[in-house]
Amino acid sequence: MSTYVDETIAKYEKYINPAQAKLFRFMGLDSVEASASGWTITDSNGQQFIDCLGGYGMFALGHRHPKVVEAVERELHAMPMCGKVLFNRPMADLAEALAEITPGALQYSFFVNSGTEAVEGCLKIARLATKRSKFVAAKNAFHGKTFGSLTATGRDLYREPFKPLLNGFTHVEYGDAEALAAAVDEDTAAVILEPIQGEGGIIVPPAGYLRQAKEICEAKGALLIADEVQTGIGRTGDWFGVNADGVEPDLMACAKALGGGVMPIGAIIGTERAWQGLIEAPFLHTSTFGGNQLACAAGVAAIRTIKEEDILRRGREAGAYLKVGLEKIAAEFPSVVTAVRGRGMMLGIELSKEGAGGMLMSLMIMKHIIVAYTLNNPKVIRMEPPLVMPKEVIDHVLEEFRDAVAQTADVIEDL
Ligand code: PLP
Repeated sequence: MSTYVDETIAKYEKYINPAQAKLFRFMGLDSVEASASGWTITDSNGQQFIDCLGGYGMFALGHRHPKVVEAVERELHAMPMCGKVLFNRPMADLAEALAEITPGALQYSFFVNSGTEAVEGCLKIARLATKRSKFVAAKNAFHGKTFGSLTATGRDLYREPFKPLLNGFTHVEYGDAEALAAAVDEDTAAVILEPIQGEGGIIVPPAGYLRQAKEICEAKGALLIADEVQTGIGRTGDWFGVNADGVEPDLMACAKALGGGVMPIGAIIGTERAWQGLIEAPFLHTSTFGGNQLACAAGVAAIRTIKEEDILRRGREAGAYLKVGLEKIAAEFPSVVTAVRGRGMMLGIELSKEGAGGMLMSLMIMKHIIVAYTLNNPKVIRMEPPLVMPKEVIDHVLEEFRDAVAQTADVIEDL
């Protein structure tokens, strides 16, 4: 190992987190990322890795898409951060672009810097709009790890150490419209749902579930918040995960791919009704960095590039191709792979045992292909490659994955 790698790991151990450094090393992740382009990450020793994780879904356009980099460079030399008092053109352009691509009457945007902030904003705005305080979320959901979003998150492992969390949250079975209807009442401000549960293990709800959720909300005067942080901006082969069900949410949280894989940015997007409280009092919710020109220029360029390069269709086709390949592997090795789920380039591979997840991840990394299991569900390996990954690269990934699954099958009894 090079001195540079050793020094970096030593700094992690001393200044970041010794247990995290140990775990990374144990998984065979003893490389330092140095540069990236498209679907390839190159480490400081010049070794190349194929990125099939896509930064938890951030790299829809791959790494450093030239059109996004160019837009950000232009702002870097003009007005990178906003002064906050004068008007900001990239922010106005991005809000307009989002109003165009989001479904229904979603119109107004507020910009933040991450997914969890986008969720926090949605929760606050829903309370403001409805003057109600209760929320319904799904079991196994992942909405982030700040207090509000953590309360909405449906996994005790992350929640327990931080209790008491916010009051008024109920969690119901994901995909069960009857359970949802029973939980929503006249005090419910909003229902918050992921169109496909990402960290929960790439769980696709039954067709029509989100539409039913919207009807249930409407009947009780509650709002529907779609958490599109992971599913949004092309990941599922549509602009948004809710498009598959033809649903028009009242509020949407968006982040990850919105910055084109170059800048961090999140957005809260809402209808006029949802926005009413903020229209009356615009400074009830503010952010110093939110809406900065660098990030907004990246967002505008990302949306424009997806349109210009037909990336939704490409992602849809590439995802279908990858899924068929994974299903063949599942059929060949049923002792290891029990299901393949997902839509577009958001795919989950359910394994027969938790131990198989760690082994497969390590084997794939040894083969220089980056995959990981989902945060809420270590039995599910997820693949969220750039939407622009070509067929021949997918073929190579499938070949290596088949080999890793075959090796895992040989020892599955002992895992
Ligand atoms: N919501 C969903 C659906 C997510 O998948 C995530 C992150 O994975 C978040 C919210 C939180 O986003 P962030 O990590 O940017 O705070």
